Amino acid sequence: MKSLWDDSDAKKFGDDALGRRVYTSRLIGAESELVLHGGGNTSVKAEEENLFGDRESILYVKGSGWDLATIEREGFAPVRLEALRRMAKLPRLSDADMVRAQRAAMTDPSAPTPSVEAILHAIIPFAYVDHTHADAVVTISNTPRGTQLLAEIYGDRIFIVPYIMPGFALARDVYEMTRDIDWEQIEGMILLNHGVFTFGEDARSSYERMIQIVTEAEDYLEAEAPLEPAPAVTLEVDPAVLARLRHAVSEEADAALTLRHDTSAEAVIFSELDHVSALATRGPLTPDHVIRTKRTALVVGEDIHENVTTYAEGYREYFDRNTDGTLTCLDAAPRWALWPGRGVIAFGRGDAEAAIVADILAHTMPAIRRAEALGGWEPLGEEEIFDVEYWELEQAKLTRAGKPPAHQGKVVVVSGAASGIGLACVQALREAGACVVALDIDPHVRSAFDGAAVLGLQCDVTDAAAVDAAVVAGVCRYGGIDIVVSNAGTFPATETLADMRDETWEKSLAVNLSGHRHLLQKCVPFLREGIDPAVVFVGSKNVAAPGSGAGAYSVAKAGLAQLARVAALELAGDGIRVNTVHPNDVFDTAIWTEEVLKARAAHYGMSVEAYRTRNLLGIEVTSREVAAVIVALAGPLFSRTTGAHIPVDGGNDRVI
Ligand code: ZN
Repeated sequence: MKSLWDDSDAKKFGDDALGRRVYTSRLIGAESELVLHGGGNTSVKAEEENLFGDRESILYVKGSGWDLATIEREGFAPVRLEALRRMAKLPRLSDADMVRAQRAAMTDPSAPTPSVEAILHAIIPFAYVDHTHADAVVTISNTPRGTQLLAEIYGDRIFIVPYIMPGFALARDVYEMTRDIDWEQIEGMILLNHGVFTFGEDARSSYERMIQIVTEAEDYLEAEAPLEPAPAVTLEVDPAVLARLRHAVSEEADAALTLRHDTSAEAVIFSELDHVSALATRGPLTPDHVIRTKRTALVVGEDIHENVTTYAEGYREYFDRNTDGTLTCLDAAPRWALWPGRGVIAFGRGDAEAAIVADILAHTMPAIRRAEALGGWEPLGEEEIFDVEYWELEQAKLTRAGKPPAHQGKVVVVSGAASGIGLACVQALREAGACVVALDIDPHVRSAFDGAAVLGLQCDVTDAAAVDAAVVAGVCRYGGIDIVVSNAGTFPATETLADMRDETWEKSLAVNLSGHRHLLQKCVPFLREGIDPAVVFVGSKNVAAPGSGAGAYSVAKAGLAQLARVAALELAGDGIRVNTVHPNDVFDTAIWTEEVLKARAAHYGMSVEAYRTRNLLGIEVTSREVAAVIVALAGPLFSRTTGAHIPVDGGNDRVI
């Protein structure tokens, strides 16, 4: 690992202590081998004048909820140093009381809650303190001879602290242990199975000591436990197995989870190791990971349902063995799975959570391989991990957690997703917490959406093979399909039946009728494994009230309405609800180009303006309003409704 310090970059953050603190905190945050999703924190001590003109020593310590990689000045909580140092001398203090006392000792009540390691930062007698959960150091620590190896690598330059639960207990014990040490004689402190502290009078020296210590551990691993480069692999993955797995895990979690299947060469090599099932069920790389990953992996075998049930029973036994009787058991579903020979799978309540688990696994797998080469992977034991998983501060979050959005963790396929009603559905579903597989014939769909929660795929719904490939890609990406919004449509040119060209007729039937059937057929096997599965078809007012000159469109949409009825009958036994919306005159969609709008208005002898609001309520209907009805129909509000046909048209006397 190299120091990333750059004088001119450092200046951009300001010359004051906190500015420098922000700069090197970001340097640390930039290395995922140092800190990963909240592991690690930094601080700086400063003298300040308060409102009354008194000088006060303040510890600016990383606030919870901030990521070191992107932290700003406001991300540091200002806490009176004296209060923190006095807390370290208390014989006992619960962590909840500690957090309360730390908040009470802040000089700015609107600042974020100080890190739980704030007291530890306070008792280290240097201006700058850096703390990481560096992979290399923790890997060495998590082996049978870890303590001895670390002592050999660093000699007496490093003070080694045995594992103690983070929070008040750790701070108090370190305070007691270090009362008589000469801090000037040591360069850092290693907390076994946990991480590294470095310190210095200026930002650069504390940061570069961290880089130095971690580099020595990395060099040691490279020499004693090198990783062979992973050869490229191509895996054949059966999407049906992924969907079954996601279903079983979601059911156990009592929530829709999405997954990320890591099929990288690294992951496949790991999943092929001898005794990999034992390695994956021994414990996490650092104890804080347990909040994201649970203590052990699910091992995927022949009977997935049974695998998950056995895992859950094991989890509940682990809880019963370790609880003091006052704790609330978390859901018993795994958060990652080892699929022997086929990589690893991360689960989460939505893609962002699954991505965090996947990141943690990407760091854990090489650590396990290296630890095995150093004599064996030996993470912390069950009791210590349980204490972190069921920490009072974590349990308190359970009661504070609000209701998740209606479609959290759901996977939705939307066709015709690049514009109009489809686009509005993608946006509404994302806001409701879903992951979306967005299909459109327009290649723009591939780059139309930011973020990993939408997979944009170019797909012509009239091409059955393309639909099949897109559905499989969606399942491989998120793990299944819960909802289908079958929306892709086309509005043909105005032609009477007498003048109809065959191609106009055929194309409308292909897109507006057969395309929906293709998509439904390909999705049904996955919907059967879905969580509260639902299908919503986008029909048209023309089903009940066709227009002259719109025969190709009206007939295809009438066929679609009948298709939806039959689907509702056939799929009810699988718990799949099928409903249809019938919008009309939604002019912000792709089919309503300026020309089409003018032509239809002229056809009825109306101005474009009058044509836009020609409904009983006299109001415009937009894609967003149609999408809101679709999202509601697919959700719990309509859990007792199937086979319904709902107009979203501002009221139409011919339909009513
Ligand atoms: Zn830590």
